[in-house]
Order: sequence, then structure tokens, then C-alpha cells
Amino acid sequence: MKDRLNKALQREEFFLHFQPQVDILTNRVNGMEALLRWRHPTDGLIPPGEFIPVAEETGLIIPIGEWVLRTACKQNKAWQLAGYAPVTMAVNVSPIQFHQHNFIEIVLDALRDSELDSAYLELEITEGVAMEHVDQVIYKLQALRDIGVQISIDDFGTGFSSLTYLKQFPIHTLKVAREFVRDIPGDPDGAAIVQAIIAMANSLRLKVIAEGVETEEQLSFLQHIGCAEIQGYIFSRPMPEGEIKKMLTPSPA
Ligand code: C2E
Ligand code: MG
Ligand code: MG
Ligand code: MG
Repeated sequence: MKDRLNKALQREEFFLHFQPQVDILTNRVNGMEALLRWRHPTDGLIPPGEFIPVAEETGLIIPIGEWVLRTACKQNKAWQLAGYAPVTMAVNVSPIQFHQHNFIEIVLDALRDSELDSAYLELEITEGVAMEHVDQVIYKLQALRDIGVQISIDDFGTGFSSLTYLKQFPIHTLKVAREFVRDIPGDPDGAAIVQAIIAMANSLRLKVIAEGVETEEQLSFLQHIGCAEIQGYIFSRPMPEGEIKKMLTPSPA
């Protein structure tokens, strides 16, 4: 796996799928999440859950993650140039990438080279980022905020999180983990957790996105409890650029 991953970047075997982040009330696409895909020439499509852990263990996530960031920024700019109403591009960042000493420069380079306005880039970090070097994490998050990039906490509630971070970290969005969304509305405990996260996000004036929404029942429950945005199969699976751009709003101008 390690050797094959090593060659995958040079052989251009990686590509991106995109999944819409949708306003529940208007059905408007506000954002897209870039999701990495790997097609090995003989083994076919390998799911990220299999190769990303290997990429993290081997450090290959650093060049791979930089490729994702650059490619996603360029794609978002291309949609804007094609006349679609601007959306936020959400890019997953592994803790190893985030902790690189030159991570801020890498983000700045990707923005500069793509000419994408920083307001249209959102970095998804996980609670795992904050497991060590909390002072440096805060410093980097503040630098990103100053650049104008948005930050979201992915899979919120599944990691070792401390609510202190919500006060200390300059973040914009909480993504309610699919693990919790899966249980609503049937399971009372699951429903209570989702409801509490959404209430907390709303009163902290954080944006909230529920991940992995698949059914009408989940959707109407989320709407009922004040969730503004969703991402999930009910609206769209992650898809290639050619398919997904049909979901963008043509610019009124
Ligand atoms: P994630 O960032 O939490 O992404 C959401 C995952 O949930 C995606 O899986 C997506 O396809 C899936 N999903 C979305 N809606 C639904 C739904 O309604 N039902 C179900 N069952 N699943 C849904 P995917 O694409 O397999 O990615 C898995 C994970 O791999 C991601 O979870 C993320 O942690 C990681 N990943 C993907 N791309 C990248 C990347 O470029 N860099 C890094 N560091 N990690 C990535
Ligand atoms: Mg994500
Ligand atoms: Mg900006
Ligand atoms: Mg997630």
C-alpha cells in the first residue's frame, strides 16, 4: 500500500469528488466538500478510509493533502469564472498536515496560485488536531482567520473534544457527525445529542452542518430543531465535477 501510494501522486491516480452542503430552507447549495478518491490502475477504486490512514502513517498525507488543497481551490475558482454563484469549498485537513510548521504558507500559496478569495475556502479539521500543542493550534487558527479562511470542526462530538476549545478557537462551523445523525429521530439519546449540539452551535453563533443525512425523517427533524444546513445522500452523493456543477446556482448577473 505504501509503495503504491507513493507512485499514485506521480501517476495522477488521485481525483476529487464533491458533495454539496445545502441550506435546508432554500435548497440552495452554499458549499461543496472536496473528497479524495484514488483509482489504482489494477485494483480500481480504493476508499479513503483504507488509504488515508496509511498516508498519515507514512507522512505521504503531506504532499497528497497539498494536492487536494490546490486542486480544490482551483476548481472553486473555475466555477466562479464559469459564472456560477460562489460557494465555499471545504477541504479536509489531517492533523499531521495542520501541525506542519509551514502549513499557513501552504494555504497562502494555494490561494495565491488559484486566485481564489480566501472567503471561499473552509478547512475541515477534527478534534484530534487539538490533542497536542494547543497554544500553537490557537495561533495557527488565528492566522487562518486573519487570512479570511473559514474553519470547521468535522465529525464534531466523536473525538476527544473539550468544550473549552469552542471558546478558545476561532472557528466558524460545527459539523454534526454522521454517527449521531444516523440515529435520529428514532433513538431518543441520539436525537438529544444532535439537538444539544445544534442548540449550542446556534447560541454560540456558529454555523452548523448535519452530515450523512439520508432520510426525509432525519431532514424534517433537523429542520424542526433549527439546523440550517445539511450534507448527505438525501440531496446528493459525492460526485465528479462534471455532475456536481449542475447543482450550483447560475449567477444572476
Ligand atoms: P468526512 O470528511 O467526514 O466526509 C464525509 C464522508 O461521509 C464521506 O465519505 C462521504 O462520502 C460520506 N457521506 C456523505 N453523506 C453521506 C450519507 O448520507 N450517508 C453515508 N453513509 N455517508 C455519507 P468518504 O468520501 O468515503 O470519506 C471518508 C473520510 O475520509 C472523510 O470523512 C475524511 O475524514 C477522509 N477524507 C476524504 N477526503 C480527504 C482528504 O482530502 N484529506 C483528508 N485528510 N481526509 C479525507
Ligand atoms: Mg469532512
Ligand atoms: Mg477573504
Ligand atoms: Mg465528517
